[in-house]
Amino acid sequence: MSIEIDFSKSVAEEINFFGRRFFIKRDDLLDDNFCGNKARKFLYFLEHNFPNIDTVVSSGSSQSNAMHSLSVLAKMKNWKFIYYVDHLNSYLQHNPCGNFAHAMQNNMILEIGEMPMTFDSNVLVINEGGAQIEARFGIQKLADEIKTWANEQKIEKLKIFLPSGTGTTALYLQEFLDFEVVTVPCVGDCEYLKKQFLSLQSDEKLHPVILKPSKKYHFANLYTELFETYQSLLRETGIEFELLYDPVGWTVLGENLGHFEGFEVLYIHQGGLKGNATMKPRYERKLQNKTKVES
Ligand SMILES: *Cc1c(COP(=O)(O)O)cnc(C)c1O
Repeated sequence: MSIEIDFSKSVAEEINFFGRRFFIKRDDLLDDNFCGNKARKFLYFLEHNFPNIDTVVSSGSSQSNAMHSLSVLAKMKNWKFIYYVDHLNSYLQHNPCGNFAHAMQNNMILEIGEMPMTFDSNVLVINEGGAQIEARFGIQKLADEIKTWANEQKIEKLKIFLPSGTGTTALYLQEFLDFEVVTVPCVGDCEYLKKQFLSLQSDEKLHPVILKPSKKYHFANLYTELFETYQSLLRETGIEFELLYDPVGWTVLGENLGHFEGFEVLYIHQGGLKGNATMKPRYERKLQNKTKVES
């Protein structure tokens, strides 16, 4: 099994939202298993050989997109894949779905507890969310595509926007681009994101701009207004976004339109739609219960 990602699929599409023009970089169209920024972050591992490695180990949440991509990588490379979660809810254990189900089908070995600090040399350790130096390889490719596109379109005043988890994609993108990269923390707060940036790049001049959400959204919790933003985007642009990062991204973008005045905006669609398989039913249950109470 081998995967050749066709990067020409990631076109930049023009949409209108919030009464202005945006371009959407469609990284969600890249590949079913390595969609969005996971295709970029893990490209280094896809394109290189690791003769001494027979196992890949990582950690994170039980529905992570990175976990699913790593399970496919391991299968392709004939590696064992061991994944550490700090807990697993019993519902998911008995009703596997979404990224978790896909990863288990790819023979992921699940460990509950903390990941050990050291491993033998046959083990490739991937930080949570792929937050490590090898991610630069594929993100440089994304930066090159953006430069070529802006050149062809003769766009000089451009800002790039993308929502962040670990901040790895935003940070490396800014390193490779002269255009300003703007992001929003979705997993932790602004301080957490700043720390992430500093752990990967000590020169703050090379950090992306961080916009602060006007309201604290706890990661993976349900907020009716976020689901409404997802629905409006789908209705008005025909593009489906994912439900963890993008609705926070668009909300904060809408709160800060002034920051982008006089500039074209390229929004990076980082994929993650597989996760909607679990998030959408959660929202639908929540909204159903709400109408029940109201009616
Ligand atoms: C992983 C992921 C992110 C977060 O990327 P970071 O590089 O960790 O900031 C954002 N959006 C989607 C859809 C993702 O899958």
